[in-house]
Amino acid sequence: MPEFAPTQTLELVGAPPAPKQGVDVLLPLASPQRKPRLLVVDDQPIHLQVLYRALAGECQIFMANSGEQSLKVCHEQQPDLVLLDVVMPDMDGFEVLQRLKAHPDTKDIPVIFVTAHGGDEIETQCLLAGAVDFIPKPVNPNVVKARVKTHLTLKFQSDFLRDMAFMDGLTSVSNRRHFDERLAMEWGRAQRTGGALSLLLLDVDFFKNYNDHYGHQAGDDCLRQIAALLKAQLRRPSDLVARYGGEEFVCLLPDTGHDDALVMAERMLRAVRGAAIAHLFSQVAPVVTVSLGVASREGADVGGRAAYLLALADAQLYQAKRTGRARVCGARLPVSEGAAVRSNAV
Ligand code: GH3
Ligand code: MG
Ligand code: MG
Repeated sequence: MPEFAPTQTLELVGAPPAPKQGVDVLLPLASPQRKPRLLVVDDQPIHLQVLYRALAGECQIFMANSGEQSLKVCHEQQPDLVLLDVVMPDMDGFEVLQRLKAHPDTKDIPVIFVTAHGGDEIETQCLLAGAVDFIPKPVNPNVVKARVKTHLTLKFQSDFLRDMAFMDGLTSVSNRRHFDERLAMEWGRAQRTGGALSLLLLDVDFFKNYNDHYGHQAGDDCLRQIAALLKAQLRRPSDLVARYGGEEFVCLLPDTGHDDALVMAERMLRAVRGAAIAHLFSQVAPVVTVSLGVASREGADVGGRAAYLLALADAQLYQAKRTGRARVCGARLPVSEGAAVRSNAV
């Protein structure tokens, strides 16, 4: 085991060699590539040490010795589970939990309270505050291991189900539900900050003919291939590609102005065409092509709702189809004219 030396700043303890005996399976649904990430928070080094010894074999352990530090680790490292001391000098465990729950990035991180102040009342208080469990001090290492195992299992299961609920079954990119949620979020953020937001709506050209001549199975393979090509063009973790429905895809590009969005759209256009998927029944090319509509909001409050951006992208896609297909058409959302866009489109 590496030398134990918690400091004022966050210390990430490297993964020690696996113990001969320990918890059998801690990774029921996690990637085999990655150990569960566990944050242990306590102002007393001795308690950190005990928990570290019990769990370091199975988990990647992060340690924090204050409430403030634990919040920082949660935001930066996104642990799978937190073991949180209740009584700490600067900020107690209840406040830490409250702050975690108040932030969208940390609200789903499960927290187990660990405290010497036992009793039904405090235990009830901990659970009502939103902790998933309660472990009394002094801790019994086997009890801690068993409870950590249970809660990691639940965490991985709920992560898995959430991922499934947001994934398109055919193409494995995001689905419409995930896109709708992200669009509402990014639209709200752009309205608040005045940041740019762009949206690409993409439709496969003459895809009915493709299905009719090559068969539905080949059509499905083609959609899978296109989804992978689109995803490969994304540059930032915040960019999202989703299947909008049928043979339509949508890309959400936060903090991206209109000129950059047009560059991205052209790149996607070329990527699909460049894949040279034979389509001898298309009227624009002997290969599969796509048409794209691009809409962007830029600058301070442009008014309107997220739906107007979508309607503008749809109108631009229609324009791309009407003017020959296999091309990109785009427009900026006019300031405070969202309503006009909505009535012209669809
Ligand atoms: P356009 O260039 O105007 O977009 O013509 P299009 O033929 O692509 O458009 P249309 O809306 O007439 O046809 C879309 C076709 O997409 C019809 C449908 O069979 C096919 N499609 C939609 N969803 C799926 C799917 O999940 N799998 C397969 N294989 N085909 C699909
Ligand atoms: Mg269509
Ligand atoms: Mg089509």
